[in-house]
Amino acid sequence: MKDATKERLKALEKVGRVVIKIGSAVLTSEDGLDLRVVNRLVDQIALIHDRGVDVILVSSGAVAAGCKVLSSCRAKSDLVFKQATSAVGQSRLMHAYDEVFGRYKKITAQILLTRDDLNNRERFINARNTMLQLLRWRVIPIINENDTVAVQELKFGDNDALAALILNLAEADLFINLTSADGVFSDNPLENSQAERIACIRDINAMPIQEMCKGKTKQGSGGMYSKLMAARKAAQIGVPTLILSGKDRFCLEKAFEGEDLGTWIMPCQKVISSRKFWLAYNLEPCGEVVIDQGAARAVFLQGKSLLPAGIVAVKGEFGKGDLVKVIVRGGAEKPAVGLSNYSSSDLALIMGKKSSEIEELLGECLYSEAIHRDNLLSEVLGL
Ligand code: GLU
Repeated sequence: MKDATKERLKALEKVGRVVIKIGSAVLTSEDGLDLRVVNRLVDQIALIHDRGVDVILVSSGAVAAGCKVLSSCRAKSDLVFKQATSAVGQSRLMHAYDEVFGRYKKITAQILLTRDDLNNRERFINARNTMLQLLRWRVIPIINENDTVAVQELKFGDNDALAALILNLAEADLFINLTSADGVFSDNPLENSQAERIACIRDINAMPIQEMCKGKTKQGSGGMYSKLMAARKAAQIGVPTLILSGKDRFCLEKAFEGEDLGTWIMPCQKVISSRKFWLAYNLEPCGEVVIDQGAARAVFLQGKSLLPAGIVAVKGEFGKGDLVKVIVRGGAEKPAVGLSNYSSSDLALIMGKKSSEIEELLGECLYSEAIHRDNLLSEVLGL
């Protein structure tokens, strides 16, 4: 057995909590929800659960299941159509899971989320507490986006992105992304017969995901791009990802027995905290601060706090505690994000000034940093 396969088997053997994402392409056929697939997957998931592993499912398929019931798949891209169709399909999807898991004496719980639910820290913590309670009861939470109320601005993008946020919410230690492809390939296997499956990605940050996916980068379009982006986020919080074909009849069973299937993506060596992950990927930045090269070195290379002295411009309107983008003037670095200790109007007054001058300008100096390093993340994906 190759080293990477051994390593992967070791990680699978010691898993305590797994998020399994099941894509629509796996669960549905032209005839809507494919109950044989639901049966097969639940059969294998129940086995994993029996070993004491906590299982959280992120399942798509509501729209496809609804389409079949309504026997009308026209205007599929229309948002209202999708929202209404998913309302019909979601209950069917849950019913199917509930019934099949019930045969194994397993209890399921439906959790529908919008981005809005997770970008409020209090609601995020509430959702986490609920999830942890369900897991303590050995219930299997089944999560989907709340399509019916999620207008475009409130969407996670797709369920790959949602699953990455759930890894953080539920403190999972493994992510299995079941898709219709046999893993990640060096090129598109449909267009290039020489394309080879990549069995293991050791450093996902070194991977030119955008080029590999040939510009198919739009959020919400799904495909391998969003799977790799989700895997990259997982790696950032120390979670390995297995991208596996859910079309393979015994995919999970074989993977847990050590068969070299799909693509294993290793976690990063340097892991960020759950809180930093939350602020970078759950919140939308409200404004921008532009910083000079000196501050850029401190923030991006040395992991230090951002001081008002290093700020050269403040853009947009934001309040104290809001998330802002940190952009380097004339720099090629990707923006960082952080929670500002000051409102945009106060920052505009104290930018370029030493910390000792803040009191004179604002009447008091509550913080010497504009953004504290504990609230600052410089490796944000997708900004
Ligand atoms: N929430 C959608 C559904 O259940 C799927 C979204 C996705 O797969 O990214 O049909």
